[in-house]
Amino acid sequence: MKADALKSRTAARGARQRGAVFLDRDGTISEEVGYVNHIDRLQIYPWTIEAIRKLNRAGLPVIVVTNQSGVGQGYFPEELVRQVHEKIATELASGGARADAFYYCPHHPNARLEAYRKNCRCRKPSTGLVEDAAHRFKIDLRSSYFVGDSSRDIELGINAGGRTVLVMTGYGRGNFEYLRDTWPRIPDLVAENLLEAVEKILEEIGGREITSGRLALESGG
Ligand SMILES: [Mg+2]
Ligand SMILES: [Zn+2]
Repeated sequence: MKADALKSRTAARGARQRGAVFLDRDGTISEEVGYVNHIDRLQIYPWTIEAIRKLNRAGLPVIVVTNQSGVGQGYFPEELVRQVHEKIATELASGGARADAFYYCPHHPNARLEAYRKNCRCRKPSTGLVEDAAHRFKIDLRSSYFVGDSSRDIELGINAGGRTVLVMTGYGRGNFEYLRDTWPRIPDLVAENLLEAVEKILEEIGGREITSGRLALESGG
């Protein structure tokens, strides 16, 4: 039913594409622990489910994009990355939230495993993965938000031509304090965590993309 509502709204605007919210994984939706090299290391932040549920209710596609070079280094198999994403999806579902897709890059230019050693187009801040998602979900990258805790996430958003949001979890606070002078552009929004980031995004787009009724419903609940 929700899909139908979305479809008709899209139809009402003609063939126009919509914006999405691209989320980094480690340090943004879950604890930054170095490498999640075992399923037991995955720790979703306590506010993540609520944050993503708010995006769902606002009708915004939610796409997770993550660099997992530990695969290329041979620290853990690609299968683990899929298991971790399944676990995240399950935990989100338990709270009525949903990510539309998970994309990951297993490569690194100096990967130990030859099969993964390359200068790929998908490792953030390159935009290969978000371009794939944009094509698949008919997303307008310039109307999209890119949320993450690291310099790479901000550069990804800049490279994709969208709005950038830095969260202070994970590497966020340190990167903001010590690396921001090296960034081509300061983040458009800065937030303590993903929930605050989502609230700021919804506030910013409240007047245009999303119908006010839905937002009113959300803040009233
Ligand atoms: Mg991160
Ligand atoms: Zn890659």
